[in-house]
Amino acid sequence: MDEIKISGLKIYAYHGVYARENEQGQNFVVNAVLGCSTQRAGITDDLEASISYEEVCEIIQQEMKAQVWKLVEAVAEHISAVLFAKYPALQELSLEIAKPDAPIDADFRSVSVCIHRKRHTVYLAYGSNEGECINQIQEGIAAIDHDPFCRVKHMTKPIKSTPYGGVEQKDFYNGVIRMETIYEPLELMRFLQSVEKAQGRDRSEQAIHWGPRTLDLDILLYDDLIYDSKELTIPHPEMAKRDFVILPLAEIAPYERHPLTHKTIREMAQNPMEKHVKKN
Ligand code: ATP
Ligand code: CA
Ligand code: CA
Repeated sequence: MDEIKISGLKIYAYHGVYARENEQGQNFVVNAVLGCSTQRAGITDDLEASISYEEVCEIIQQEMKAQVWKLVEAVAEHISAVLFAKYPALQELSLEIAKPDAPIDADFRSVSVCIHRKRHTVYLAYGSNEGECINQIQEGIAAIDHDPFCRVKHMTKPIKSTPYGGVEQKDFYNGVIRMETIYEPLELMRFLQSVEKAQGRDRSEQAIHWGPRTLDLDILLYDDLIYDSKELTIPHPEMAKRDFVILPLAEIAPYERHPLTHKTIREMAQNPMEKHVKKN
């Protein structure tokens, strides 16, 4: 990928864990590498087709002066979210924030934090069968779209399906979303759980597994990542079985491939293993 680089951008600001850093301030030095295609700009010789490094420098300066954080990690994360939201063409970003005069008792040239962020394409399944289902789905999806780390690109219309997993309960409204995010997988899951909670989701011990819920948001696909831990499995292990996931997914992502079976979603939709979607 092509890169636009900014190095040694000096900014006087007030971030730090110690009160004296917040009161007196100090120099920060920023290095940024923006991954994006510059070919259009190269062919047309038009700044509009590129990302202006002058504007990026101004944004970094403004953002670092507008607010005070304790950690340079937080400064970097914030600037990264601002840049990804502002520039749709930005695909990857490496951002280093250094404190050459950090107040530590050691002989050093500089200390820094360098983060690497990337725009990821994610497909989510949404479901609801308790409370004001359609309202909760819409509010939940709006909350995702308003988050600085996410952008919703497409949402399928809710379809009705009969419950899955043998628990006696009301019909579900289901659908899928295509979104972009700079969250890493576990952070995305934590964020989605906070959205579920804001829509009244009960995650207490008493809540029945596969029981009624105000809003359920599952990560189906995250680029072509294969990931498995105690808390999170991607691709979602049940997705192939569920027609209420695969049929709407085939509407918006027919040619995506399941990273484990390599089947296209369209192929998967031709033969759903179980049928839950209700015909209107
Ligand atoms: P299912 O995942 O079979 O649809 P569910 O949605 O009813 O079941 P929840 O109670 O919402 O399950 O979540 C249980 C746990 O599943 C979560 O705490 C989370 O750690 C874990 N989990 C694993 N993989 C995923 C994933 N891809 N997306 C969302 N949660 C996941
Ligand atoms: Ca689920
Ligand atoms: Ca879930």
